[in-house]
Amino acid sequence: MDYPAYGVYRHFKGNYYKLLYVAKDSETLEEKAVYKALYGEGGVWVRPLAMFTESVERDGVTLPRFQYICRDESELKLLRKQDELPEGKIRMWFFGTGSGTQPRAGRHHVSFAVEMPNGVYWFDAGEFGSYMAHIMGLDLLKIRSIFISHCHMDHVGGLGNLLWNIRKLTQGKNAKGLPVGGNVDVFVPVKSTYDGLMQLLSNTEGNFKCDYTHTYHPVNEGLLYESPADDFRVYAKLNTHLDTATSYSYIIEAGGKRIVFSGDFNFTDMSYIMPEDGCDLFMCETGHNKPLDICEKIRNDKMNVKRLFLFHNGPRVMDDIEGTEKILRENFSGEWKICEDATTYIF
Ligand SMILES: [Zn+2]
Repeated sequence: MDYPAYGVYRHFKGNYYKLLYVAKDSETLEEKAVYKALYGEGGVWVRPLAMFTESVERDGVTLPRFQYICRDESELKLLRKQDELPEGKIRMWFFGTGSGTQPRAGRHHVSFAVEMPNGVYWFDAGEFGSYMAHIMGLDLLKIRSIFISHCHMDHVGGLGNLLWNIRKLTQGKNAKGLPVGGNVDVFVPVKSTYDGLMQLLSNTEGNFKCDYTHTYHPVNEGLLYESPADDFRVYAKLNTHLDTATSYSYIIEAGGKRIVFSGDFNFTDMSYIMPEDGCDLFMCETGHNKPLDICEKIRNDKMNVKRLFLFHNGPRVMDDIEGTEKILRENFSGEWKICEDATTYIF
């Protein structure tokens, strides 16, 4: 018989498994499928191969017992539609988590979003972010506002694509559309970057005419944006990543939780960008700052940081994942994570 392809299968009852091997029983020479559960404790199972590949009947419909889905877990992650947001929770979407180094497999430039019940709020727009978001199942038409920390390419290079994709999704036969007359607020620290981008877009097909508006906003310190419908606010804090006054860290208050997004920053900015009573989640860049320094600063200054997610990761972290994990394990007492592209986190 033909052997089934190794990869991820969905059992007809809904769970996902990975077919690891086809093995032969040493006593009977019967062929067996060896497969691993992609949920719970990830148990490894064996059953006759003929059973693995057979069809079953359910509610009068004949289905394969195991349906091939994709090659591996990372593809599965992209394919699975996102579940409903549980009540009282927010979902973080990480599209790109890499720093502005040369292209690196599996790591795109910085881009993430906060999903609330009534909208999606987007932060930084590195390359590829909107494509990734769409593939991951995020509805780009739920975006209400976009915040850029500073105008370096690894934070703004995908903004044109993001706006362009939003428009594309409002067109054609599958159009759901932002409400006509709807609006996307775009906060960009450097006006000429936004203007240049709009110039570029205006020369694209249909002259980038939209049935909704984009509203440009400068970034200034203090309360920048508020969406009462979502109990959502963004505050900007000027940092010293750039000599000129154009780089910001963002403090995000979302449904009673506080997230600090460092943007790109100098280590000396850390006390300034961290609120006095700390945060539920610190998304801290490591492109310019060492994980050990960050952990020690949090500890020595008794910053109340409940979760530390490393972001904007470059060679320092990516070339030594194990070493970085060891540093975090030994020096940070809360939950920590080295963020990866195409992942989500609910809390
Ligand atoms: Zn950067």
